[in-house]
Amino acid sequence: MHEFSIAVNIVEIATDYAGRENAKVVKEIEIEVGELSGVVVDALEFCMEAAVKDSILEGAETSISFVPGKARCNACSHEFEVHDFLTVCPSCNTPAPEVIEGRELRVKSLLVE
Ligand SMILES: [Zn+2]
Repeated sequence: MHEFSIAVNIVEIATDYAGRENAKVVKEIEIEVGELSGVVVDALEFCMEAAVKDSILEGAETSISFVPGKARCNACSHEFEVHDFLTVCPSCNTPAPEVIEGRELRVKSLLVE
């Protein structure tokens, strides 16, 4: 499953970070998932539960925030919400707007001690 390898990757990022900070416990982790990142938040949450077992993230409070898709029209600079890559500009109908938000998939913050 796609989300499972992402969950494993997130655990690796947290483990590396905790190692650099000489931390023994990760208390909180915040993950940002964009609407257009191709990741299903529910599936990622489910996979995180399995991936954190016996890792430094076990017992950490995990929060996943969802970032809605947003694009800017290349022709008229109008900014609007998008839910896929096929949306045309609602004000001038130009296709292929530039996606400016919603592709992110990242660890936003980590609280260690
Ligand atoms: Zn436009």
